[in-house]
Amino acid sequence: MKNSIFIILVGFSITLFGQNKRYFDSLVNYKISLGLKCIDSSKYENATVHFLQATQIPTTLPNEILFYLGKCSYYLKEYEKSIQLIDKFATLTDTNTSYYIESQIIKEEILKKEEKNITVQIQNTEKPCKDEEVLICPICRGTKVIVKNSKIGPIFTNCESCDEKGQIKCIDYLDYLRGKNNK
Ligand SMILES: [Zn+2]
Repeated sequence: MKNSIFIILVGFSITLFGQNKRYFDSLVNYKISLGLKCIDSSKYENATVHFLQATQIPTTLPNEILFYLGKCSYYLKEYEKSIQLIDKFATLTDTNTSYYIESQIIKEEILKKEEKNITVQIQNTEKPCKDEEVLICPICRGTKVIVKNSKIGPIFTNCESCDEKGQIKCIDYLDYLRGKNNK
């Protein structure tokens, strides 16, 4: 007799939990749909609010929410935040999804913008490089080594930009930047 009451109670609480989960999941979907509508009408601040509200709901969230937030941050010119969200999203999603591909395009755009800023700063000075001026190699940051992340862990290669000297002629660095932007 006691056992059957116990089973009924356990059964009841599982159903309740299931119903809650379904309720919370539909709430998440609702918030996401509101956010996506805002993205469609370029209201990225409002969209961010809806997505953040969705993250407060106690249920499992779809990974795409990181992508949506990253996309909004990009349009709100919060580039650092955008890259953080996109990188986090990349660790959780398959690389053959359209969301992943779009997120990588956004990331590329941000990196291009940042590199252009450096070039503009240098080009704006009347004479960008003083005669024979030498810089600490900005590509390897003077370490003479480039670290790249790969699936099997970091890979170290010698820095070709500075010929493994850790220093680079200012003029050569300008060529490097211009070459990269022309690609
Ligand atoms: Zn270097």
